[in-house]
This record gives sequence, structure tokens and C-alpha cells, in this order.
Amino acid sequence: MTTDDCPFCAIVRSESPAIRIHEDEHTLAFLDIRPVSRGHTLVIPKRHSPNLEALPVDDGARVFAVAQRIALAMRRGPVAADGVHLVVNDGRAAMQTVFHAHMHVVPRHRGDKVSLAAGLATRRRHDPQQTGADVRAGLEPGREGEK
Ligand code: 5GP
Ligand code: ZN
Repeated sequence: MTTDDCPFCAIVRSESPAIRIHEDEHTLAFLDIRPVSRGHTLVIPKRHSPNLEALPVDDGARVFAVAQRIALAMRRGPVAADGVHLVVNDGRAAMQTVFHAHMHVVPRHRGDKVSLAAGLATRRRHDPQQTGADVRAGLEPGREGEK
């Protein structure tokens, strides 16, 4: 997968639509098109790296920092998460399907085991515009665009 045929590079170039949660010079965060739970977000470096081996350490650090902020936003904002998974699937054996390095930010709620299992099976979108607004609403004002 190169930048030309990479679905995430197409989102960075605004050639594919996405519900954007955060953007700065080096990173972009947007809703997963097949969420396992409402608010499931992906954080990517804008620079294309297919996997962890190729990922420059500074891009990895930036991705983590943004994922951490979004996780906090999911807890304190209207998503009202009780917990959050930060997940990187690296390599086909680990179920990586898009070969542009990314981190999943998946909100969890107490007692949601059944709905999470259903979400894993169906991976249906839930009102993406409202969901995007709800995730963004938890981001600390004034820190948007910070590197
Ligand atoms: P992986 O299994 O590689 O860690 O996860 C890739 C994720 O990217 C999947 O959860 C999938 O739903 C999501 N995805 C794949 N293509 C697109 C796309 O074009 N737009 C968005 N927003 N998400 C995508
Ligand atoms: Zn890419």
C-alpha cells in the first residue's frame, strides 16, 4: 500500500470524506467507518508509514498524545465513557487491514460487554455527525491545534 492507493492518505488529502475529530500539522483523527462502539476514532500520522516498523518514533509519539487527549475527551464529554481502549493492530496476523499506521480509540461503558460484542459483529455507524460532535465536545477548548 502506497500513498496513492492508501485510504487514509486519501482522507488526509480530503479526497475521501471522514468525520474529523482533530487535526494538526502532523496528525489527523477521524471516526472509524465501521465502529465497534459509538465514538470509535482512529488517529493517524499524516505521513504515510505502513506499519510500526516503518513509523518514525516522533510520529508514534504524536499519535499517542492525540489518542490520549481523545480518550480524555470521551470520558469527560457527552460520550461519557467509563473506560477507553487504545489499540494498535500491527501486521496481518494482528488483524491490521489498513497499512497506514493508526491507533484505535474505542470508548467503553460499564456493563457494555453485550453491546460491544454486538458492535464487533455488526460494526454499524450510529449518526456519525452527532457522534463526531459529541467526541469533539469533550476536547479541552484552547488546546485544539496544539502540537
Ligand atoms: P485495522 O484492522 O487495520 O487496525 O483497522 C482499520 C480500521 O479502519 C477498521 O476499523 C476500518 O473500519 C477502518 N476503515 C477502513 N477504511 C476506512 C475509511 O475509508 N474511512 C474510515 N473512516 N475508516 C476506515
Ligand atoms: Zn497512507
